[in-house]
Amino acid sequence: MHELSLMENTLAIVFEEARRHGSDRVTGLRMRVGSMSGVVPEALEFAFEALTEGTPAAGAKLYIERIPLACYCSACGNEFEPPPHSFECPVCKTPSMDIRKGRELEIISIEVP
Ligand SMILES: [Zn+2]
Repeated sequence: MHELSLMENTLAIVFEEARRHGSDRVTGLRMRVGSMSGVVPEALEFAFEALTEGTPAAGAKLYIERIPLACYCSACGNEFEPPPHSFECPVCKTPSMDIRKGRELEIISIEVP
């Protein structure tokens, strides 16, 4: 479960960022997770709960914004969310692997008291 080490790194950034803003507590964290990021949001939530226990972020809320996969079709200019196991443009049926959204894995914001 690489979500655990990922969240460890994320929290290190979060605490550093909170300290920079003169706060020793963190009350919330917003993240953006794409469906192609290779990260399972539920596992991330679990890791967050487990890792924040007994830390300045204990009881903090994790908000995850899920970004669906979006491909761009260069043949007709359509941006679409492909069905599972397919990268075919629903308009012109041209396969497209030009992924424009869905790989996001980032911190949006940190809430401090
Ligand atoms: Zn198309």
